[in-house]
Amino acid sequence: MLDKVVIANRGEIALRILRACHALGIRTVAVHSTVDRNLKHVAMADESVCIGPAPSPKSYLDMASIIAAAEVTDAQAIHPGYGFLSENADFAERVEQSGFIFIGPKAETIRLMGDKVEAIRAMQDAGVPCVPGSGGPLGDDAATNVKIAAEIGYPVIVKAAGGGGGRGMRVVHTEAALVNAIATTKQEAKAAFGNDMVYMEKFLENPRHVEIQVLADGQGSAIHLGERDCSMQRRHQKVVEEAPAPGITPELRAEIGKVCVEACIRIGYRGAGTFEFLFENGRFYFIEMNTRIQVEHPVTELVTGIDLVREQLKIASGQKLSIKQEDIVLTGHSIECRINAEDPDTFLPSPGLIQHFHVPGGPGVRVDSHIYEGYAVPPNYDSMIGKLIVHGPDRETAIARMRVALSEMVVDGIKTNIPLQQRIMADRGFQEGGQNIHYLEKRLAERKDKALSIG
Ligand code: ADP
Repeated sequence: MLDKVVIANRGEIALRILRACHALGIRTVAVHSTVDRNLKHVAMADESVCIGPAPSPKSYLDMASIIAAAEVTDAQAIHPGYGFLSENADFAERVEQSGFIFIGPKAETIRLMGDKVEAIRAMQDAGVPCVPGSGGPLGDDAATNVKIAAEIGYPVIVKAAGGGGGRGMRVVHTEAALVNAIATTKQEAKAAFGNDMVYMEKFLENPRHVEIQVLADGQGSAIHLGERDCSMQRRHQKVVEEAPAPGITPELRAEIGKVCVEACIRIGYRGAGTFEFLFENGRFYFIEMNTRIQVEHPVTELVTGIDLVREQLKIASGQKLSIKQEDIVLTGHSIECRINAEDPDTFLPSPGLIQHFHVPGGPGVRVDSHIYEGYAVPPNYDSMIGKLIVHGPDRETAIARMRVALSEMVVDGIKTNIPLQQRIMADRGFQEGGQNIHYLEKRLAERKDKALSIG
């Protein structure tokens, strides 16, 4: 087992990683920016190193500072968490070249999955179902592009090969708009990602977002841990996640899971990973692979009983996967609500001092959060201040437990999206389950219209 790990992240995921390390007897090094010196995990870590000022390019994205922190503390490995440098192939490479273990896949795997055109090609070769599309980058010949779109059928979506975070894509409904749309997306992609390569896919109109969690040891073994439904989104940001996904039968799960496991073995995948799919009319369409732990990993942990971060650490230490596919049994239902420091109506960030914090509890309730009374949420980072996760024997009970937990949770001093989460849990459509990725935004728009007509 590893003996000392640098946690190259902040907030709730840094605390989550610290807990998994300590439970395995691994010592921890917290690296933090100047405004983050009061973070909970910094106080709990065996050692801490300040790596720079608040702006993330000067701290959490500064590769040299993080590697230097590993050197001065004589750590063995670096866990990148999610966001920041977690999917940066150059960072993974530099970590390994400096003699440390990067807790994640090989740099070449991260690089492959970071190029969406290459990733889709690799997945197609591995037998993973993908969205019908151009199957490669688009050239400059307008006539050829028009022909490709006609073959796929409108609407199509033009996407940047190097895109991410829901940026660098454009939906095209007519042939007349196509050529311009390609040119504009190329320009934007060049400016935002330094790479003007774009490709084309069929635009699925009402899909759900269903993703498969995998674990692989890079030594020939891989398993899947079922799926999560993350269709409750706003601006491509997930708001609520659950496992299992409503309506996915054991047969469908086993089938798509097997495809993902085979793809992992084929590409020599190592660590925890997620295959993201759009799911429409009973079929899965691969959109991208996330080569890291995800925000929503706890819902999978609660239905499988597997500690995913612990498994990441074991794999990184060179151990073979000890869990077999037949050991994975899904029990009950789990839901996660992301708790953000933001106005529940305008969605504007609401940083500031937390004057009072009451943590909910009871059977099947888990709170992953770094906040505490007297903690000031800085304005510099993502607004997520924690995650409320519940588990119950079935979906109805899980929703009921979430509603009680949300009503118990008090965060005073700043605004949070708890009222929004309460409205979602009380919503008929959500309670029915299986809504598509546009559902939440549609409901929010309806509410706004109503407020306007009353006001
Ligand atoms: P990113 O890396 O920026 O998150 P993704 O490829 O994962 O990009 O796509 C982000 C979101 O965009 C998806 O969750 C989905 O809502 C939408 N999207 C992407 N491709 C398609 C498609 N072919 N049809 C419909 N929606 C799509």
